[in-house]
Amino acid sequence: MKGMRVPAVALLACLLVMALLAVLQPDQVAAQSPDDTYVVKQGDTLASIAAVLGIPLEVLAATNQLTDPNALDVGEILLLPRGAARRSVIARPGDTIQSVAEREGLSVLRLAIVNGTTPTARLFPGQPIRLLQNSAPPSMPFGSVNVVSVPSSVVQGQAGWIEAEVDRPLSLEATLNGAPIGIRPLTVIGKDEGSSDVTLWGGYIPIAASVAPGVHTLNLSYTAANGVAVRRSFPVFVQGRVFAVQEIRLPPDRSALVEEEISQAELDYLAPIWSHTATPIQWRRPFSLPLQTASPTTSPYGVRRNYNSGQYYSFHTGQDFAAPGGSPVLAPADGIVALAEPLRVRGISVILDHGAGLFTGYWHLQEALVAPGEKVQAGDPIGLVGTTGRSTGEHLHWELRIYGVAVDPMPFLTRPLLANPSTVESEAVQDAEEGQ
Ligand SMILES: [Zn+2]
Repeated sequence: MKGMRVPAVALLACLLVMALLAVLQPDQVAAQSPDDTYVVKQGDTLASIAAVLGIPLEVLAATNQLTDPNALDVGEILLLPRGAARRSVIARPGDTIQSVAEREGLSVLRLAIVNGTTPTARLFPGQPIRLLQNSAPPSMPFGSVNVVSVPSSVVQGQAGWIEAEVDRPLSLEATLNGAPIGIRPLTVIGKDEGSSDVTLWGGYIPIAASVAPGVHTLNLSYTAANGVAVRRSFPVFVQGRVFAVQEIRLPPDRSALVEEEISQAELDYLAPIWSHTATPIQWRRPFSLPLQTASPTTSPYGVRRNYNSGQYYSFHTGQDFAAPGGSPVLAPADGIVALAEPLRVRGISVILDHGAGLFTGYWHLQEALVAPGEKVQAGDPIGLVGTTGRSTGEHLHWELRIYGVAVDPMPFLTRPLLANPSTVESEAVQDAEEGQ
């Protein structure tokens, strides 16, 4: 395709239509795109295009006979490998999730989870069925790992999800930019031809608000029986998000440096508490609000805070709700109390361990109503809203950390929790039976 020239007007019209369609229905466009091509945009690299489209870099380079992946021209048209852009299919008359899964050669259970339904649910003819949840095609096996599904992109401040299917006992490890990701075996999903168990592994990919947009590297590895380390890298594209900026003036008697040292000491104290990943998954449903009534947000997650005109800055690690002092704070999901004590910066604090490396935190409380080690259920009161510690007024700071990384807690109120497929599925079946 190199050297191909397209009239500028036609190209512009094509780009406009593509942009419009992409806004309307990204999966539909991907599924129905008549010509599997991609027009190179300003700032694109072959790696970022491969990551966004979920195509292995080497496959994209080979399809376009590119010898130098850095020599891309804006407006250049890349050919996509056949089927690479297919992210959804249309249900045929009489289809169920099971029949679609069999036709596409996918795991029935996973297809049901991705589409938020059950394996036996009847589908409407013409209903779009997602094949993958924002993921690359499940066809990047290496060694004993048969299927790997890595999100092609994750939004700054949110969490992605990685899955792998393996058919022999091994210990998978995953890192993003060198930091460990708590990937773990979730459930046995079937048998392979040799009748050994196929185990589904999964884990979150938490992306802090401070992670730069662009392509990052996710490594998946294990040690084979003969002692050889087997490793494969996958690109993950971090999509930038616009965060508000807040200017904070500290009084002259408190230098920013001193503030930073105090904050860091407290973070060092908390890090081992919220980096624990051994607790089994405790939650069963999407999280509920940690307050009885919807309260206005005074400061959302990710607000960039500049102190004294940029001497240093930080990101707001949680969501602040305006709520009157003394309002009960409620557990958003089942969990185990990991901490309940007064801290210098955070004031009276409660941290809940929801299992699998996922923690929630509640700062500036008037009072904690729970003690470490106590089990709580979704909706249980765990404390009272206050203004203790470094707080300028009564409010609840709610924070969610995965493997110690603070991400936006709000998506967890609605998103399906993929971390425990067997539980999620039994809930879905139950809801279907209740006719909800
Ligand atoms: Zn806050």
